[in-house]
Amino acid sequence: MAFPKIEGYVVTEKLGSGSYSTVYKAYTKVGARSIVAIKCVDKSRVKHSGSAIDNLIMEIRLLKTLTHPHIVHMKHFTWDDRNIYIIMEYCCGGDLSKYIHRYGRVPEKQVLYFLQQLASALKFLREKGVVHMDLKPHNLLLHKDSNGKYMLKVADFGFAQHMAEETKQCVRGSPLYMAPEMLCGEYDARVDLWSVGVIMYECLFGRAPYSSNTFKELVDKIQKQAPIEIPPNSSISPGCADLLTRLLQHDPNKRISYEDFFNHEYLDLEHMPSKENYEKAVALIKQAIELDSSGHLQQAFEAYRDSLLYLVPAVSRESDGVRKSALTAKLTRYMERAEEIKQYLKSPDGHVVDVSQLRQHAARRVDVARRAVPACCTGAQSTASREFTQYRQANCNPCVCTTQSESTENGQCACQPTGSIEVNGVEEMPTDSGSTSQPETAPLENHTKTKESNAGRFTFKRFFGRNNSMPYLETKDSSIVADDSKKQKTEDVPGDVCRIT
Ligand code: ADP
Ligand code: MG
Repeated sequence: MAFPKIEGYVVTEKLGSGSYSTVYKAYTKVGARSIVAIKCVDKSRVKHSGSAIDNLIMEIRLLKTLTHPHIVHMKHFTWDDRNIYIIMEYCCGGDLSKYIHRYGRVPEKQVLYFLQQLASALKFLREKGVVHMDLKPHNLLLHKDSNGKYMLKVADFGFAQHMAEETKQCVRGSPLYMAPEMLCGEYDARVDLWSVGVIMYECLFGRAPYSSNTFKELVDKIQKQAPIEIPPNSSISPGCADLLTRLLQHDPNKRISYEDFFNHEYLDLEHMPSKENYEKAVALIKQAIELDSSGHLQQAFEAYRDSLLYLVPAVSRESDGVRKSALTAKLTRYMERAEEIKQYLKSPDGHVVDVSQLRQHAARRVDVARRAVPACCTGAQSTASREFTQYRQANCNPCVCTTQSESTENGQCACQPTGSIEVNGVEEMPTDSGSTSQPETAPLENHTKTKESNAGRFTFKRFFGRNNSMPYLETKDSSIVADDSKKQKTEDVPGDVCRIT
């Protein structure tokens, strides 16, 4: 079939087609030869259907105003005698449906990554008063950036509408992803949340909850509201299961609300990996280092902690091995420094130490990132840790050496007083109890309420490595060491990188 001729563009291939249109890849004839996707809508196919034309005009108008990193950007539109052409940014990674078919199942970490991006787009749409109404994997496009990272983008607003006319009386969307209430005719913006649940389910388990052999079977299942079960042999995290179950509630009144969805702990939208959040993390780290150098240890601790909440997800999503190792090394040092401050802020017998004294010691410390000697009793000590040892000897309980021989000649003991251990070659900080077997699970917010005492209860590596609601890292990978051999299959697809052809 011949490609359409569009003024100003050279069409190179067909990308896909849907109900009213065919989408092509093209590049601009003049200038930088930028690649675009052009959605061609055959006027003769929409001519006789008033609602189709309305849908299209709606799509064009909406797309033009919606600028968001996770929404396909519409550049402009044009027309000739036969077609209307919508010129959009090109997404080189295909759509999510192809991605799921290629891999069968998507690892939970990757699902969360996509879900955060979808949720951030939905949040933006909601702020603009827009409901999509046709969310499905075919309408979620993937773009692979120069770092090899997939970015999910919401596309195809053919069915979108303003929420002012929220309740509609006709059936829209694709049955497999369609909320049950759509069959009854009375529905509202909450249908998109059901579709998110179906998409999440399909990514995790390789098939939609109501996947059927025939259309009739599918409609039967929807009408009967057949129970949706999480496959018994699946190993999804409790946070993931909770969100999925709450999205896939047949009754829209029992379904998770938009507000609760956007604030769900598992989704952790606030700290999702993004350029903006990475910049926030960098700014916080700079602030932490400055506060640390000037001896404001409590504030420095808080800034390190807040920054790490952004950095850990970002680093775990980094697909470039070299960059990941470099970031991991930095991140580990920040964690260790934060742990070190935590130790400063709390005396060994559990009482809060005088922060002003600590400031005097900390004031002499300059290059935070270069120092990672957290314990007072290691053999090779930096000036900083020698000062800390002297400080502890002068102000705190002595280290718990069981025998005299554990003490060295210069008065420093050679034992690990609170039981620090080595994990993957990186020293892991001990818990306050001295035991390393119990994960720290207390929610982070609790630690901001009372300053010094709370600083002592927070253990970064444990929190990020083992907290179920933040499955960014493998459980055993609590030291956050980069391991490229474990790189997910999904991140390594040759031929997927976007380039001008
Ligand atoms: P329809 O309204 O006809 O369903 P869509 O906008 O969903 O059309 O596009 C149909 C298919 O074309 C998508 O599923 C996707 O595979 C492909 N496609 C659409 N837009 C783009 C784009 N911007 N970049 C790459 N592929 C696209
Ligand atoms: Mg579509």
